[in-house]
Amino acid sequence: MSTTSGTGAVNYRNGTHRSSLRTQPSTSSAHKPSSLKSKSLLRKSSPAALGGAGGSKSGSGGDAGVPGRVRVAVRLRPRNGEEMIADADFADCVELQPELKRLKLRKNNWDTDTFEFDEVLTEYASQKRVYEVVAKPVVEGVLDGYNGTIMAYGQTGTGKTYTLGQLGEEDVADRGIMVRAMEDILAEVSLETDSISVSYLQLYMETVQDLLDPSNDNIAIVEDPKSGDVSLPGATLVEIRDQQSFLELLQLGEDHRFAANTKLNTESSRSHAILMVNVRRSLKPRDGLSSESNGNSHMTKSLKPPVVRKGKLVVVDLAGSERINKSGSEGHTLEEAKSINLSLSALGKCINALAENSSHVPFRDSKLTRLLRDSFGGTARTSLVITIGPSPRHRGETTSTIMFGQRAMKVENMVKLKEEFDYKSLSRRLEIQLDNLIEENERQQKAFVDEIERITVEAHNQISEAESRYANALEDEKQRYQNDYMESIKKLEENWSKNQKKLAAERLALGEKNGLDITSNGNRSIAPALEEVSELKKLLQKEAQSKMAAEEEVNRLKQQLNEFKKVEVSGNSEIMRLHKMLENETQQKEKLEGEIATLHSQLLQLSLTADETRRNLEQHGSEKTSGPRDSLMSQLRLPQIQDPGNAEKPPVARLFEQVGLQKILSLLEAEDADVRIHAVKVVANLAAEEANQQQIVEAGGLTSLLMLLKNTEDETIHRVAAGAIANLAMNETNQELIMDQGGIGLLSSTAANAEDPQTLRMVAGAIANLCGNDKLQTKLRSEGGIAALLGMVRCGHPDVLAQVARGIANFAKCESRASNQGTKRGKSLLIEDGALSWIVQNAKTETAAIRRHIELALCHLAQHEGNAKEMVKEGAIWELVRISRDCSREDIRSLAHRTLTSSPTFLTELRRLRVDIR
Ligand code: ADP
Ligand code: MG
Repeated sequence: MSTTSGTGAVNYRNGTHRSSLRTQPSTSSAHKPSSLKSKSLLRKSSPAALGGAGGSKSGSGGDAGVPGRVRVAVRLRPRNGEEMIADADFADCVELQPELKRLKLRKNNWDTDTFEFDEVLTEYASQKRVYEVVAKPVVEGVLDGYNGTIMAYGQTGTGKTYTLGQLGEEDVADRGIMVRAMEDILAEVSLETDSISVSYLQLYMETVQDLLDPSNDNIAIVEDPKSGDVSLPGATLVEIRDQQSFLELLQLGEDHRFAANTKLNTESSRSHAILMVNVRRSLKPRDGLSSESNGNSHMTKSLKPPVVRKGKLVVVDLAGSERINKSGSEGHTLEEAKSINLSLSALGKCINALAENSSHVPFRDSKLTRLLRDSFGGTARTSLVITIGPSPRHRGETTSTIMFGQRAMKVENMVKLKEEFDYKSLSRRLEIQLDNLIEENERQQKAFVDEIERITVEAHNQISEAESRYANALEDEKQRYQNDYMESIKKLEENWSKNQKKLAAERLALGEKNGLDITSNGNRSIAPALEEVSELKKLLQKEAQSKMAAEEEVNRLKQQLNEFKKVEVSGNSEIMRLHKMLENETQQKEKLEGEIATLHSQLLQLSLTADETRRNLEQHGSEKTSGPRDSLMSQLRLPQIQDPGNAEKPPVARLFEQVGLQKILSLLEAEDADVRIHAVKVVANLAAEEANQQQIVEAGGLTSLLMLLKNTEDETIHRVAAGAIANLAMNETNQELIMDQGGIGLLSSTAANAEDPQTLRMVAGAIANLCGNDKLQTKLRSEGGIAALLGMVRCGHPDVLAQVARGIANFAKCESRASNQGTKRGKSLLIEDGALSWIVQNAKTETAAIRRHIELALCHLAQHEGNAKEMVKEGAIWELVRISRDCSREDIRSLAHRTLTSSPTFLTELRRLRVDIR
C-alpha cells in the first residue's frame, strides 16, 4: 500500500489511523487556531458527530487527526398506506435500536442479523433531527472552508428525495436537508463580503445535464491537475442572496428535471440529482492573521492579504439502488441498462476502496465519482444516509442497501454483530452492574456519615473554643477592671490620708501661732481642697473612660459570640443538608433494592423459561422446542394427508385413530413427495408424545424414519425425521435399536450434507441422546458419532453448538462413570477424537446453554487421571481453575475444585506454576 504523503491518492483516503499521513488542506492558512479546540474530535456517540467526519477543523493541525471516514446513518421510512394494508399481518423486516445505534435485520422467524451504524433514525425521526445529525456538521465544515458531501442512497420510494430535497412549503417541519443547509449558510455568512453560488445538475447515463438550463445537456467535468479541484465551467451558476430565491431555484430545477425525464423517456429514479453550493468567504485581515500568525513577527502583520475561504457543499440524491433489469424491460437496450447504473456501481467501488484504505480509488470510472472526487475523502466530510422501507417484501433490496451502508463505514466498523438471546448472561451482567451500584452506594453512604460526623465534631470544637475564649476574655477584662478600680481607691485613700495629715499639721501650726485671722486662714485651707476635687474629677473621668472601654470590649465579645452562634447555626444547617442527602441516598438505595427485586424476579422468570426450554429440548430431542420460533410444531399440527382441502384440521391423535398408525407409516414410502413430507411430520408429532413412542417403534416407525434419512434428498424430510429420531432416542431400548440399525452412520451422513442449522440441531440432539447411554460408548465412537458431532460445529449456530456440547457432556459423564467403576482405562475417546481443543476454545462462550455443558464435560473428563496429562497439555486445566473460581453454579464450581485437588497430575502442575487453588 502506498503511503506517499501528498499524493492525491493519500489525500482522498479515509480512516483515522492514516491521518498522520494526510497533507494539510489547501485552505489551512485560513484556520483559526481556536478551532483546534473548539471543534475537537467529536465522539462517535455524539449525534452531532455524524457527518462531522470527526469534527471539522481539527485537521488543520496536520496530525491532529481527522477521522475522515464516511459517516453513515440509516433512516427508516414509515409504512405507507399501501404497506399498512398489504403487510398488515407481517412484522417489519427491520427492527431499530436507535439508542444502541443498531439495526436488526430479520432473516427469518428465528434469526436476525445485527448491524451498527453511526446513527439510526427511526420512522419517527423528524426532518430537523435528520438534518442535525446527518448534515449540520458537514455544512459547518463547508462554512469553515472544507468541502463536504451529503448523499442519500436507497431503493426508490424509501425517502431519499424526502430527506434531501423536500421544500416544506406547506409544512415547515417537512423541510429537507438542502433547504435547511442553505438557511444555515445564509445565517452564517455576511452578504457584503461573502458569496454563495449554486449549480443544480442531473446525471443520467453518464451525461451531466444542467437543471437550471435544460438546453445545456452535456456539461464537461474539469479537474485542476494541481489542486485536484473539480469544476463544471459549463454549468449555470446562480448567486444566492436569500432563501426565497434558493427555493425558487430548487423548484425550477425540479420542474426541469421532470421535463427532461419526460423528454428522454426516463424515470427520475434512474438519474442522480446533484446540488452544488459554493461558499466563498473573505476573512477580515485580522481574522486571517489571528488564524495564521502563530507567533509571526509584528512586521509581517500589516502586509498580510485578506484571506478567502472556499468550501463546496455537494448534495446528491442518488438514483434508486434497486437492481435494474438487465434485459432492459423498461425499454432500454442492454447498453443503456449498463450505463444507467454505472455511476452508482462506481460509487460503491470507490466507497469500498476508501473504506479499505486501498491504494487505488477508481474515481475515474464514472462521471459521478469524478464529480465527487474533491468532496470525498481527505479533509472533506462525507455523510451518507441510507434509506430503507419497512416492508418484508423488499427484504432483498433492503439487505443490499444495508450492506452498502456497512461497507461505507470504516472496515473496522464492519463487524457484523452476532447476537444471541442469552438472557442468563444478560441478567448476570445486569446483576453484576447492580452489585457494583449497590457497593458504590454503600461506599457513598459511609462517606456521608463520616463527613457528617467530622463536621459535627468540628462545629462542636469551634463552639466550645469560642465559648472558652469568650469566658477568658471576660474574666481578664473583669480582672483588669477590678485592678484598676482597686488601684484608684488606693490612690484616693493615699491622697486623702495625705491631705488629712497635711490639714492636721496646718491646724497644729495654726494653734501655735494664736490670734491669726480666721478668715484668711480659712481661705488658705480651701485652695488645696479644690485641687483635690479637680483631681478627683479627673480620676472619675478616667474611670468613666475605662468603664466605657470595658463596655465596648464586652460588646465586641458579645458580637463575636453572636458570630460563633451563627457559625453554629450554619453548621447545623449543613448537618441538616447532609441528613437530607443521606435520606435521599437511602431512598435511592431502596429504589435500587426494589429494582434488584424486580430484576431478580425477572431473572427467576427468565431462568424458568430458559429451564423449560432446555427441558423441552432435552426431553424431546430438540424437535419440540417451545416458543414462537418453532414453526415446525405448527406445521406438524396441520397434517393434511388425506384431504388437503379440508379446512377443519383434525388433531393428530384423532387422525391417528382414524387412519391407523400402519397406514401413516406406509405413507412414509409414498411416491408423492408432498405426501411423504406430511406423513413424516405427523409421525414426528406423534413421536413427540412419550405415550406413542413404543407403538411407533413396534410398528416399524423407527426403521422407516431411519430409511428416510437414507433414501431421500429432501432436507425438510431429513430435518423432521431427525427430530422424530431424536425424540425416540430418549429411551434406552430405542437407543440400542437405533444403533443396531446403523443409525449413527445415517445421522452422520445427514449431518455432513445438511445446510440448515435446524436440521443440524436435530441430528446433534439425536446423537447427544445416544451419547448418554453407557453401553453404547465404544460402538458410537467407532461408527463416527463423536466425529459427526464435532463436524457439526462448522455451522456455528448456538442451538447446534448447545446440542454438540450436550452430547460431549453426556459422553464424558458415561466415561467418568466407567472409569470410577474401573471398567475404563486409558484416555477418553473424546480426547482421542480431538474434542478437547473445541471444548477448551468454547469454554468461555457467552451462551449459557453451551457453556454449562462444556463445563460439565471438563469436570467429567478431569475425573479420570488418564486424561490429566492431555488436559494439561491442551490448557483445559486453566479452564478448570477458572470454573472452580468463577462458575456461577455452586455445584459445578465445587466439582471442578474437587477434581483439580484430587488429581496428582493437576496438583503437580499447579504447584509447578505456583497456582494456588484453595
Ligand atoms: P425516493 O426519493 O427514495 O424515491 P421519496 O422521497 O420520493 O423516495 O419518498 C417516497 C414517498 O414516501 C413520498 O411520498 C414521501 O413523501 C414519503 N416519505 C418518504 N420518507 C418519509 C418519511 N420519513 N416520513 C414520511 N413520509 C416519507
Ligand atoms: Mg427520489
